[in-house]
Amino acid sequence: MVKLKEYEKYVGVDVIDELELYASKLSGVVVQNINSTSVGGGVAEILTRMIPLLQELGVNALWDVIKGGEKFFEVTKKMHNALHGQSVTYTKEEIDLYLETNEMNAREMDLKGDIMFIHDPQPCALIRKKSDVNQQWIWRCHIDFSRPDPFTWNFLKEYIEQYDASIFSAPSFARELKIPQVLISPSIDPLSDKNKELPQETIDSVLENFNIDKKRPIVTQISRFDYLKDPVGVVKVFRRVRKYVDCQLVLAGGGATDDPEGVKVLAEVQEIAANDPDIFLLLLPPASDIEINALQRASTVVLQKSLREGFGLTVAEALWKSKPVIAGAVGGIPLQIAHKYSGLLTHTIEGTAFALKQLLQNPSYAKKLGENGRENIRKNFLITRHLRDYLLLFLSLLHKKGDVIYL
Ligand code: UDP
Repeated sequence: MVKLKEYEKYVGVDVIDELELYASKLSGVVVQNINSTSVGGGVAEILTRMIPLLQELGVNALWDVIKGGEKFFEVTKKMHNALHGQSVTYTKEEIDLYLETNEMNAREMDLKGDIMFIHDPQPCALIRKKSDVNQQWIWRCHIDFSRPDPFTWNFLKEYIEQYDASIFSAPSFARELKIPQVLISPSIDPLSDKNKELPQETIDSVLENFNIDKKRPIVTQISRFDYLKDPVGVVKVFRRVRKYVDCQLVLAGGGATDDPEGVKVLAEVQEIAANDPDIFLLLLPPASDIEINALQRASTVVLQKSLREGFGLTVAEALWKSKPVIAGAVGGIPLQIAHKYSGLLTHTIEGTAFALKQLLQNPSYAKKLGENGRENIRKNFLITRHLRDYLLLFLSLLHKKGDVIYL
């Protein structure tokens, strides 16, 4: 198990001291996280790393996952797409199912945190069970909220406004709400299997297992197979560029238990990729952190051609590995990439193809972008900064309750 002290080499001793100081005021406080999947996607990725570190700091951090049937997750995926801007309609049964599933989970779960930390729309209506005035409820939104479907937003707002505070990942997601809104960006863990340094032999053997040629340029996108990650667009970009520059494309991703659309999206990508020997469609099982790490490290250029994106952990992961990244200028991605300084931001297939060709043909420019990108991640998007923001928020909520905190 990784210890906090090991982060000193990246962030310095003062950062760790500060975390210990804040945490000393939260000793024994129960922070109960609730989300909708334990594997797949960014939220599970972050909680897996965050919970043990909070525990090491003496905070009694817990993590529970709500239960729901296939239909429930179809409804919540619809909500997810709607909050990302898609226009949708719901039947009365769908809305009832959403509320009933939340009700059922609230009955079956022991909602015992001093701080109830609820992630994303799926469990948002658990707030209806808020009764203990001593509990502080936080709603943490990880999705791109810049243009939500009005019906879905108004429906959820009724519940969100019953929370004591809300957290969004980027300034552009701020909404009009009666409760305080806090801006906290996600983060990556430099010591996780996904991000730690790897020996060259490990990287080579992962490439070999997938039959990828390490001598030719590799362009990679790691993502769940989701329309909003535009994997079909990535294949189109690749086909345009390969006419001019020899390269291979790796599209790697698995599913998430709360994302029922993946199979359909994958089938579309398979069809368009049509057995092209230079396109590697890799279906990764949940515990593939070393493989993903190796694929990112082996890449010449990393793409994240998202059409909407809450934050885009995959961007941070690639930048941390000093990779040049070309990504959609959406959601939380521009927080991580300053265009032409720490990566390239694009809006279209044509623009992405132009950028990719440029980086493949100009390795020294690509290298500079990757180096600047790593430094931005080191300063702003490592898990220690994220922990600090959470600890300060917990302290401020408990303080609001009337306890005086002396730092
Ligand atoms: N990921 C993974 N396996 C996959 C696809 C993605 O472990 O097959 C990881 C990826 O490395 C990243 C996270 O899941 O850590 C995805 O987070 P991101 O914010 O990029 O997107 P989300 O899936 O939350 O929309």
